[in-house]
Amino acid sequence: MYTVAQLIGGVWGAGGEGGELVVHDPADGSPVTTVPVATADEVAKAVEAARGAAAEWAATAPAERAAALHRAADAVEAAADELAQATTAEMGKPLDDARGGVAAGIGTLRQYAELGPVRGGRTLHGASSALDFMAPEPRGVVAAITPWNDPVAVSCGLLGAALVTGNVVLYKPSERTPATGWLLARALDQALPAGVLSLLTGGAEVGAALAGQDVDVVAHVGSTATGRAIAAAGARTGAKVLLENGGSDPLVVDADVDPVWAAEQAALGCFANAGQICVAVERIYVHRDVAEDFVDALVGRAEALAVGPGRDPGTQLGPLVDRRHRDHVHGQVTAAVAEGARVRTGGTVPDGPGAFYPATVVSDCRHEMVLVREETFGPVAPVVVVDSFSEGLRCAADSPYGLAATVLTGSMSHAHRAWRELPVGTVKVNAVFGGAPGGAAQPRRGSGQGFGYGPELLDEFSAVKAVHIEAPGGGHW
Ligand code: NAD
Repeated sequence: MYTVAQLIGGVWGAGGEGGELVVHDPADGSPVTTVPVATADEVAKAVEAARGAAAEWAATAPAERAAALHRAADAVEAAADELAQATTAEMGKPLDDARGGVAAGIGTLRQYAELGPVRGGRTLHGASSALDFMAPEPRGVVAAITPWNDPVAVSCGLLGAALVTGNVVLYKPSERTPATGWLLARALDQALPAGVLSLLTGGAEVGAALAGQDVDVVAHVGSTATGRAIAAAGARTGAKVLLENGGSDPLVVDADVDPVWAAEQAALGCFANAGQICVAVERIYVHRDVAEDFVDALVGRAEALAVGPGRDPGTQLGPLVDRRHRDHVHGQVTAAVAEGARVRTGGTVPDGPGAFYPATVVSDCRHEMVLVREETFGPVAPVVVVDSFSEGLRCAADSPYGLAATVLTGSMSHAHRAWRELPVGTVKVNAVFGGAPGGAAQPRRGSGQGFGYGPELLDEFSAVKAVHIEAPGGGHW
């Protein structure tokens, strides 16, 4: 059982007068973590203390900050197994996936430690007697509010980029994975000057209190509804708001692809991490010519997955994060069936402990259904049959979200049409996941705003100052 403590003003164990939450293992319902809840007053005090540490950290040489981040990455590496175990115990994903998330987080910390000190600004060509340049500066105090679905990888990105660019950070991990957040903060804090990193714990109200404070940046990775509430808070306080939010990513399957291979891609996209990935495949538009074989193969894939607790070796499909979320997933499936969709496999809530939900394939879906249009965030593959690639692209583009999209096609011209016509941050052709290291995109519409990843995230956490210097009296130096 983990007992989480907050870190406020460089002091571990501070505050927590807002009560206590208990996190349960989604595989069997057993208690895993107790976590203190910050009061609004504690949040305000933490921001004030962080502000007090900001100037010294901002004035620390970039190379020194980078060295601290490398040491922090070492500490996370030393705690890697513990972090992966905590992730699996708190949110249920297979342990190997959790290990992959921790390794990705460590890699990101190291990337930012390398990139931070080599950044610079442009020099400008003005009057020959003058000097003009652009200098990136830290923004100051950053609130980083993170989700549970890949807690270490996502948090390391925001924290690493914000810290190496000279900002102090108030970190609020998800209330569903607080021990993971606490272990990560403990590791990072070992390598940082006291007060540079703070940890606040609790639920939505703690996030809301933090987002309403006088901070310089609120960086949120999480649901669209929360992102919109944070954007409204930022409009009131004047904080810069960086949002990486939900999606309803489409997969378009063209008439000329092998339906069995397409089904493998769809199964990976829909069922990995039980569908709880921001860029999971959430809706499938398959060409009529290959639809029947595709659905048959997808059902076969769904039924072949090894289901079990994430901690068991060999598990491919763990439980959902909790029963509240399972109700949401099952509710969307049930509503689609009531509107004429057909469950081909899965679609029933199993008996027994935990928050398990089977890999589910739903055919005869229509583009208008909530299961298709909204984010489900579960192991569900809704299939819509289309009569042409153009119709598939049109449906894929018609969404309140704009995170990512995949097309499977043998046609180069269709591939080019896809990346040009789809209004999303990331377009993938012939692979649902993958992408070169350092890739970053700007999500569109309900999926957020700003770069949440890649070298561009360093710019998001910096404010550029333009400087113009002349000799006195209009002369030369
Ligand atoms: P969530 O928005 O409910 O919670 C994320 C964080 O926000 C938590 O720490 C939570 O306590 C906090 N929070 C909740 N309400 C708040 C409020 N009103 N003000 C301030 N903070 C608040 O999201 P979640 O359920 O933890 O995560 C799942 C969602 O995250 C999915 O929609 C998924 O697509 C999205 N996600 C997006 C990306 C991306 O890069 N685009 C990556 C991972 C997850």
